[in-house]
Amino acid sequence: MSVTRKLYDGDSFLAEFSATVLACQETENGFAVELDQTCFFPEAGGQASDRGVLGKATVSDVQIQNGTIFHLTDRPLTVGETVLGKLDFARRFDFMQNHSGEHIVSGAVHRLYGLDNVGFHLSEDNVTLDFNGLLTREQLLTAEREANRAVTENAAFRTWYPEARELASLDYRSKKELDGDIRLVEIAGYDLCACCAPHVKTAGQIGLIKLLDTVKLRGGVRIVLKCGWRALADYNCKYDNCRDIGNLLSVKQEETAQAVRRLQEQLTEEKQKNAAQKRRLIETMIALGDPEQRMVLENGLDGKELQLFADGLFRRKGGICGVFTAVPNGFGFALCGEEQPLNAFFNEFRQHFSVRGGGRNGLIQGTVSASEESLKSYFHFL
Ligand SMILES: [Zn+2]
Repeated sequence: MSVTRKLYDGDSFLAEFSATVLACQETENGFAVELDQTCFFPEAGGQASDRGVLGKATVSDVQIQNGTIFHLTDRPLTVGETVLGKLDFARRFDFMQNHSGEHIVSGAVHRLYGLDNVGFHLSEDNVTLDFNGLLTREQLLTAEREANRAVTENAAFRTWYPEARELASLDYRSKKELDGDIRLVEIAGYDLCACCAPHVKTAGQIGLIKLLDTVKLRGGVRIVLKCGWRALADYNCKYDNCRDIGNLLSVKQEETAQAVRRLQEQLTEEKQKNAAQKRRLIETMIALGDPEQRMVLENGLDGKELQLFADGLFRRKGGICGVFTAVPNGFGFALCGEEQPLNAFFNEFRQHFSVRGGGRNGLIQGTVSASEESLKSYFHFL
């Protein structure tokens, strides 16, 4: 194994290259191909690897071990041959927009609030960054504004491996104590941070930097970030949703949340009215029903209503009373009675059918997998 020459260190926009195949080993998931040089950035520092092709082989993953980069391919390559490599550059550029955006945000949060970035994750569907302290909504908005200022000023990026003496004289951000050659990424006027990943050349290439959800995590916060094309896609998704909700509720887009809140209040009120009506209906059904009938099948009842109905029957008729309502693959039920005879009744019932449920204080609720006919013949009075 030899140290692979990292072409992405010199030019992050280089998407095609030719290289010599040094080794090719069959693995569980394909073939691990070693080249003398590569444009493919391996999975590192929380960032997923590049994808693309080597000749006719598809590269689905890239890993680095002790400076050697392994390309996982779907077919073998011949050792000694020269192969043409091509990156999935849309993926690379998307990763660069988001990783470079992360540097600017982390730099701004560090400068403004003294917090450190202690975690970073970048994949095709999610970018998150973790800070070792809390941030208010206002502080986040200030950091976001500061980050976007770097974009509007088109701040220049520079990456290099400084000599030991130069490195010792520099104040740079770093997630962990690094050994070996340290690569620095400078965003002129904004940030200086140790990082091995490919970055944009100027902040303007990032486009919009948007901070989204924040959650508290281990005494700090995790922030979801969307930059560039991802931010635009996110805006479009939210715009479509807002427009549709606005149209459905006949309100302006800016007033959708308020309108949904009103709707929710109305719904709660309607649900309360409906529940009161159902309670009255249940009471009437009990009063008008056959005085001998203690087992009832009534569809469309929820758990609370089943309980209410069975309890009402029991209070009026005594003995053991039950109400059943159809649910997928069987029936939901509530049984009411004096504790002891009810438990014996329930045990007997359980021996005849596949029953799930239980209860105490004279009430048992659950579901039973059974056909209507078999239930009716078991409780011949159902
Ligand atoms: Zn980085």
